[in-house]
Amino acid sequence: MSKEKKQLSLIERWELDIESYKNGVQVLTSVPQCEKCRYFIKGKALHCKMYDNEKKPKYVMFPSKECPRYESIELIEVAINNEYDSKMFGGLFGFCVGDALGVPVEFSTRDERKRDPIKEMRAYGTYHQPFGTWSDDTSLTLCLIESINNHYSVQRVADNFMKYYKYGYLTPYCEVFDIGKSTKNAIDKMIHGVEPVDCGGKTEQDNVNGSLMRVLPLAYYVKNMLPIKQIEIVEEVSSLTHSHKRSKLACIFYIEFVINLLNGNKKDEAYKNTIEFVKKYCKEIYSEEIENYRRILDGTIASYNEEQIKSSGYVIETIEAALWSFLTTDSYNEAVLKAINLGGDTDTIAAIVGGMAGTYYGFQSIPDNWVQNLARKEEIYEMLTKFRYVINIKEKFSH
Ligand SMILES: [Mg+2]
Repeated sequence: MSKEKKQLSLIERWELDIESYKNGVQVLTSVPQCEKCRYFIKGKALHCKMYDNEKKPKYVMFPSKECPRYESIELIEVAINNEYDSKMFGGLFGFCVGDALGVPVEFSTRDERKRDPIKEMRAYGTYHQPFGTWSDDTSLTLCLIESINNHYSVQRVADNFMKYYKYGYLTPYCEVFDIGKSTKNAIDKMIHGVEPVDCGGKTEQDNVNGSLMRVLPLAYYVKNMLPIKQIEIVEEVSSLTHSHKRSKLACIFYIEFVINLLNGNKKDEAYKNTIEFVKKYCKEIYSEEIENYRRILDGTIASYNEEQIKSSGYVIETIEAALWSFLTTDSYNEAVLKAINLGGDTDTIAAIVGGMAGTYYGFQSIPDNWVQNLARKEEIYEMLTKFRYVINIKEKFSH
């Protein structure tokens, strides 16, 4: 007598997959394939409309291969009123998208990326996260935006960092899955009542990219200030987690470079102007750091070949890789994918270059599918809309 097999519900199949995954199974077979994606990722669990219709367990499984046909159900429409909007939304969304593109392959080697280059947004990977999951880079950037939206103060930024660390504030799924050691140490000090600007590590070993990866919103906030004031605010925000001059100088360079792109300068001009700015305003205070930035400050970073560009979390290698990826490509996609396919600290480097490229090429240059796949995109858009308003008001009154 043949017994008819019980048809499992989607939720039961998810649960079965999770059990298999916990038992070490890498390729999941219990989940039915979405019609759209069956052809591409046969035999693996995936993210699709079918599953979204049922309540998913906390840790859902996603394919290790990219799914070019993935589509988000609810779309946001970003209102762009002028070129400046396009640059602003382009830079900030470009940053988040770069982060989300890099997250699944963070810490992968360059060899791995050569064998299996990233061409599309992926899920799963390093942290087993769904499509469009962004990391600490975006969370801490959003913490800064929130504070600018509500009368910027360094204390407010610190308060947001603590909320992020303790409660998963401004994270995709209310949990922190990726945080740098220096940032964690600094936030621990904040929690113990140390003055925010005294929390950042001051030693040479503290020069990872943890402050560079979260300062982008300052480009809009400080762009009409006097250079001295501009530098002071960038230094202050960096010092919350990274107080060494090397880290601060990377932030100063990045912000001035993006300001130049925002002002409509061509790439070469922006690069040249930024070098001049650093030489004029930072040469004395940062004299001991100038030599470490030689490959950037002598204006030749774009002339190096790929083997000469490292892509680690060391702040100088990060900014070199980002600048190099931006200057040697001709579109948003090319720039961020080139950065990711260097391997290493892929999410942070792609986020930083995404900020540059999105500003330069504008919001429309970012593939819509990548924006629509971002986790919590509606909330990000809402925050950015308020940010644009706050910055516009500030500019009006500064004239
Ligand atoms: Mg990250």
